[in-house]
Amino acid sequence: MTSTSPAPVLVLVPGATGAPVDGGALFHLADATVPQLSVTDLVATRGDGVFETIGAFDGAPVNVGPHLARLARSAAQIELPVPDVQVIAEAVDAAIAAHAPVAELSVRVMLTRGIEGDGVPTCWIHARVSDDWSPYRSGMKVAVLDRGLPTTAAETSPWLLQGAKTLSYAVNMAAVREAKRRGAADVLFRASDGYVLEGPTSTLLVRRGDEFLTTPVSAGVLAGTSVASLFTWLEKEGLQGREELMTVEDVAGSDGAWLLSSTRLAAPITHLDDAELPVDHELTARFEKVLAGQA
Ligand code: PLP
Repeated sequence: MTSTSPAPVLVLVPGATGAPVDGGALFHLADATVPQLSVTDLVATRGDGVFETIGAFDGAPVNVGPHLARLARSAAQIELPVPDVQVIAEAVDAAIAAHAPVAELSVRVMLTRGIEGDGVPTCWIHARVSDDWSPYRSGMKVAVLDRGLPTTAAETSPWLLQGAKTLSYAVNMAAVREAKRRGAADVLFRASDGYVLEGPTSTLLVRRGDEFLTTPVSAGVLAGTSVASLFTWLEKEGLQGREELMTVEDVAGSDGAWLLSSTRLAAPITHLDDAELPVDHELTARFEKVLAGQA
């Protein structure tokens, strides 16, 4: 493991002066409207870091514990010191409290390998108004795109960091642009052995009768906090959620499919390439309440 020290946490707030929060020294407010990141930070030069995006609805962040547990797992995967999740949780609250009240905030927690040569990670938290996800929540076309790796890569080749939420999302964003060129709004990645994986920023959920299925985490997808919340809720409703490897045909022939994530919530898939899927808007609305922590 690495010998670097833990990161001082910055909470980026427009106009903040750099003062410690509540007189404590565990994290500091800093001005989000002026540059704060060094050009030699290894996240800027190599994309070397990990992150989380937490949704906050009417000022209340959702699934902070699971997000920060995943941040710690991602950090361990790239051999960064595990951050003090309690301090980060307080800093998340401070970022939300410092923001003007809005219905939907997207709170980013960023942890990088820090300035080259320093050995001290950089960590900051930034709350911003979420994008307008309503067009996605009413249904979207999705293109199937190759990820180029088999579902066994997580096990055979851990250095490929499958399942870690790293700050190297350029490929994910390029995939979304390719989907848009194809007339779709988002992507479902397919592994080289033919199984479907996840979206570039989301987890796949598929309905088959009263069962709800998602890609196994062992196939190299991110362990989604949203799908975990939904599975807990489904169980309470007497329905079942479980992992299963699925093909494109399985999804295209299903009783409905969604891409899930913490800020966009549940986005139903209307078309997977040319195949039309059934969409249950009422169920989608219930999923959205659960995922926004309002069920
Ligand atoms: N998979 C990937 C690659 C993601 O980037 C994300 C979220 O950003 C997800 C899945 C969904 O994770 P969560 O439900 O925890 O937001």
